Amino acid sequence: MDTGCFSAAQRLSCHAMNPDLLKPCPEHGPPQPAAPRMKPNRNKTEQIKPELAPVVTDPKTGRSYSKGKLLGKGGFARCYEMTDLTSNKMYAVKVIPQSRVSKPHQRDKITNEIELHKTLSHKHVVKFSHHFEDQENIYIFLELCSRKSLAHIWKARHTLTEPEVRYYLRQIISGLKYLHNRGILHRDLKLGNFFINENMELRLGDFGLAAKLETVEMRKKTICGTPNYLAPEVLNRQGHGTESDVWSLGCVMYTLMCGNPPFETLDLKETYKCIKEVRYNLPSNLSPAAQKLISSVLQKAPANRLNLDQILGHEFFTKGFTPDKLPASSCVMVPELHPPSPAKKFFTKMAKSFFGKKKAKAEKIPCDDKDEKDLSRLVSGIVKCSISRQISYKTVGSNEVASPAGQLVSSLPLEPTPAEEESRKSVSRSFKGTMASSAEPCEDGSTPAAVAESAAKVLDTCLSAMPAATRNPPCLSRPEPFLWVTKWVDYSNKYGFGYQLSNHSIGVLFNEGTHFSLCDQRNTIHYCLTNNKHFTFQTSALPEQLHSQKQIVELMANYMEQNLMEGGDLHCEDQASSSPPPLLLQWVKTDHALVMLFNNGTLQVNFYTDHTKVILCKAADGSYLLTFISRERVSCTYLLSMLSEMGCSAELRHRLRYVVQLLQHHADA
Ligand code: ADP
Repeated sequence: MDTGCFSAAQRLSCHAMNPDLLKPCPEHGPPQPAAPRMKPNRNKTEQIKPELAPVVTDPKTGRSYSKGKLLGKGGFARCYEMTDLTSNKMYAVKVIPQSRVSKPHQRDKITNEIELHKTLSHKHVVKFSHHFEDQENIYIFLELCSRKSLAHIWKARHTLTEPEVRYYLRQIISGLKYLHNRGILHRDLKLGNFFINENMELRLGDFGLAAKLETVEMRKKTICGTPNYLAPEVLNRQGHGTESDVWSLGCVMYTLMCGNPPFETLDLKETYKCIKEVRYNLPSNLSPAAQKLISSVLQKAPANRLNLDQILGHEFFTKGFTPDKLPASSCVMVPELHPPSPAKKFFTKMAKSFFGKKKAKAEKIPCDDKDEKDLSRLVSGIVKCSISRQISYKTVGSNEVASPAGQLVSSLPLEPTPAEEESRKSVSRSFKGTMASSAEPCEDGSTPAAVAESAAKVLDTCLSAMPAATRNPPCLSRPEPFLWVTKWVDYSNKYGFGYQLSNHSIGVLFNEGTHFSLCDQRNTIHYCLTNNKHFTFQTSALPEQLHSQKQIVELMANYMEQNLMEGGDLHCEDQASSSPPPLLLQWVKTDHALVMLFNNGTLQVNFYTDHTKVILCKAADGSYLLTFISRERVSCTYLLSMLSEMGCSAELRHRLRYVVQLLQHHADA
């Protein structure tokens, strides 16, 4: 965990804040406001008997199996690792209590699942081994997938890089084509049903809802599946076809790349409405090919959707690199992948194009360096980040499960590292907390890229017009009040990035992209989903699903309040306003500075070493204000036009140049 400014007494211990201080939080991060899963005929009130003998014996063959760890619980079954005591072969065994299949239709469902699964044999379908039953349970012996499922990977990662998405989708499509060619529909395609074995190979599983493909007239009109991934025609009770599985596949692809399902809302009815209207946001930071593919799959009319072969023939697959295999460490962190082009060559090219002939030096540059010629040295810090990140990856063993992924990318370069050019944007969203920016602009029309681009333009114009000067012009005596970040705390290796604004409201941009603001003396909560939908709640009336997220926000808020010093002397009154405070869209850390971009166009850059800050914001009349907070934490606000006319000190100009360079890299990225 990394933080903003500490009081002198705290400063030494600041980087080692015990993550357990934020313990009262859910095991798998903030809650997903997803609707409950729907499977017909599963009686939730029935209890599965907890006791299962340590050894179970097939009454017919006499073969015995010893029970290992619990792999997971499903609607009907518990799934255990079991070892055949004769052969030592290990299985994943679904154990279904007889009490849960006492009614004929329940038994039929299990029989159907077994009979169907038994006939399947494909590299990307979970292998069915055998089954038996005793008086207590039915036991279904399956191929063991020791790395659980894509749902587990998604929980740890939130978004995957495009090469990884291609890697998994190719295998899903291969398994799905096999099913469809045999006239079988899966009908419950979702992350939790894509199992991953020890070698990181994907297996399609859970045939509890699978059915034979029927003609349109004969199709059952039951609504089954996982609400977020239901196709419009299934919701409209027109039955399930192969195209409905393709729709779910589109939702899976979207979820893996964007971090949340496309039609996720806080309310199931609203989700269904969005599905029926095919209303979702396509983040503009996905590659154009990914955007095109998703929109060609999420088509309302089944006939208009791409089929599985067309998906594989899409430029997203044909033009993008797909790794042959993935390291196990990619279950919890961004992998270092090797596209065909030699990484080193690429890096040298990138470094040359940025630094001209000068060799990129990996050195630490203090940010009070006054020599303008040293600007490139400052920026070389970014390059250094890419190098050190690569090194970090190489030193991480594949068994390191709980590795601090956020830490690895905490020095996210603003230019791509050689092996990850393509995946950089997802890395950025995963760990740097980019608010999912939609192709349709969010309510206020801002995306991180747009804010960065406009700030870069404004500052660049100012710098190029600036005459030489040695001093700053007089600062405004009563500048228009604006909000800026007075304290921050980087807890992205677990939850997200928290900050306090100068009106004392607290914001947290969670790793998965949702944004939570605690305002008005903690009485009002503004919540923003990754699709930019805003919600406002009285704290006392906060929906249950958001309680654990609120706890995390409060703990970060308390931590900042008790331990951190305010970053400057500029204050703003606490506003009891119903309008949400500015929303952090993105934050990026380089070796030297923290860059924050807000949806009201505000840009703030905090330089770590000397605690100076640069804040660019827009005044109500459309003019720009530039504030510089000195190392003594004294602030001065200028009209940008004044700086442009009268020039400024080398200290400020130097920083402004650095900021422009950073932003231009952001725009190119
Ligand atoms: P559901 O009730 O959702 O159909 P299942 O009964 O298929 O769920 O599985 C319950 C849990 O058991 C899954 O969520 C998963 O964690 C685990 N599991 C199922 N099959 C396997 C497998 N082949 N290998 C490893 N774990 C499995």
